[in-house]
Amino acid sequence: MAHTETEAQQPDVETNFLRLGWCPHQIRRLQELHTPKALSYLSSLDRRNYRPNNHNACLEAPRCVANNVNLKNYDTAHTPSCAGSCPPFAVDYSTIVSIIREGGVPLISINVDASSSPENPVIELRVTPRTLSSRYTALSHVWFDGLGNPAANALPACQIHSICSKLVSQPGDFESGVVRIGALQADWPRQNFVMHAERQPPLFWMDTLCIPVGDAERDVRLMAINQMASIYAAAVQVLVLDAELLQCEVNTSTATETLARIACSAWMTRSWTLQEGVLARECVFQFKDRAIDPVHEWCHHGARFRDRSNASSVAWPDTKDDESWIVYKEIYDHFWDTLHQDWKSKFRRDPPTPQEFKAGGGAKFSIGSFRGSQAVGKVHTLPAAQGLTRRGKSGLDKKDHFTLDFGEERRLKQLVDTWNELAHRSTTMPEDLHVIIANLLDFNADKIMEIPTREERMRAMLLSFKLLPVSLFWNNGPRWIDENNDCNHWVPIEPSKSPLTMTPVMQVTAEWLKLDFDTGVEHAASKAQVILVRGAHVAGQTSFLLLDSQTSAHYNVTLMDYHMDSRTPDAASFLILETPLPLAPNVTARGALFG
Ligand SMILES: [Zn+2]
Ligand SMILES: [Zn+2]
Repeated sequence: MAHTETEAQQPDVETNFLRLGWCPHQIRRLQELHTPKALSYLSSLDRRNYRPNNHNACLEAPRCVANNVNLKNYDTAHTPSCAGSCPPFAVDYSTIVSIIREGGVPLISINVDASSSPENPVIELRVTPRTLSSRYTALSHVWFDGLGNPAANALPACQIHSICSKLVSQPGDFESGVVRIGALQADWPRQNFVMHAERQPPLFWMDTLCIPVGDAERDVRLMAINQMASIYAAAVQVLVLDAELLQCEVNTSTATETLARIACSAWMTRSWTLQEGVLARECVFQFKDRAIDPVHEWCHHGARFRDRSNASSVAWPDTKDDESWIVYKEIYDHFWDTLHQDWKSKFRRDPPTPQEFKAGGGAKFSIGSFRGSQAVGKVHTLPAAQGLTRRGKSGLDKKDHFTLDFGEERRLKQLVDTWNELAHRSTTMPEDLHVIIANLLDFNADKIMEIPTREERMRAMLLSFKLLPVSLFWNNGPRWIDENNDCNHWVPIEPSKSPLTMTPVMQVTAEWLKLDFDTGVEHAASKAQVILVRGAHVAGQTSFLLLDSQTSAHYNVTLMDYHMDSRTPDAASFLILETPLPLAPNVTARGALFG
């Protein structure tokens, strides 16, 4: 929205951001997402000195490159308090390989020898195959921070100790269905019953330890990578380790700053971690003093449950400070939407307050019922135990979808959200992108990755939708230059910064992408215009005047830069306009020309 105040403030805000070490790409993204008040708040957060990098090279690149790694020259890091000489701990390579080869998932536990001294504990990494009843945590980290290891399935002892202490002090989970009856911990959905669970070493999965390194077992490595959707979706919690968050404290900071650090963290700017965060049922963020799960512990009103989760140690905005609450809620929404919490959680970002609940007749119920009111029916829950079952193998039909109960409009939103989010994220290995897209859009990644080229993978996934956004035609990113088939020129190779929109839409039929104006998506802008241009010879990036002979109105039409269309200008036979005619005269429309 145009706002004089915005324009006056903008240069200062941008200078502040840059001075405090923010990435120019992230600044631009935040400017699209946030109001001036929230932007001004964010631009006061100092991001310098948390990582040994800067964003100088990002200006020249289409996305942030500061946290990309060079795997040929990668140093696994020790913890800040380690002198750097502790020995590495490795998992048994042949065990993880054989578990994965049998279609399973290896899980790790860190076993401490009880007879060893606490100062110098003797530890051992044990590998067990995941079962339907396994309760485990999946770790998610930014490789730039040094927790990866391209040379061995191993980590330095100091990191193993640090992971162990984080796992045992994680906050309790909210959605797994676990109950505690005395010493018994019962997780009914998983059929997992354990006495004195706190005495068991926690089970976890981590790429560094569980995906076999090296080319010797390349097929097993790919199997492991393609399993990642089920690994993250079936974990009880996902624990996020990000170097900046690990140096910040929840208890000495404000709730707004904690949320802002999470929402803008490097972890939130990577492609793989999008999948890991979105597929997670519960995402826990590790800070220096403790770990928090803002989705389940916090909401728009502050602490979600006052009797849980150290709520009293958190500094919320002052009750009367409405402006600070607005900023808090805006950043909360940014965080919530990025993790697509609405896709999967039964928790609400804005549950009724106890007062509202009372007014609605809730006073009849106990506090337990108030907890119940957090839930909004069952929107959609990613499978827990079900996620472990083998998905169908019969091609790109419904059997290959993780979730069968999504309506077409919901799937369309999933596609639009995934595209628009990945467009702003970076990855060291762009060839990974299609696994991530497949996992986020509920495809069987194995099946998608069996398709030989990136273009064909995108086409296979896109054509399995019943509705597609027409805005795919305005995509200025890389597209399929198919010499053999002009009909494929619209197919994108990967998400680009040309945003997809929910409307207008087209129907996918066996033979056509059909611009149908009766798709059930009710929106004034859901009507694009198709014009036949017989024998037209129009090169890409062209503007021309269109005359409506009935009303005598003139339209300036600008074609997107379709470089491949200019290669085969004879093929041009129809023109798609983003907006239906009649437009206001002299308004420029966007168009795409196809053969
Ligand atoms: Zn950057
Ligand atoms: Zn060390």
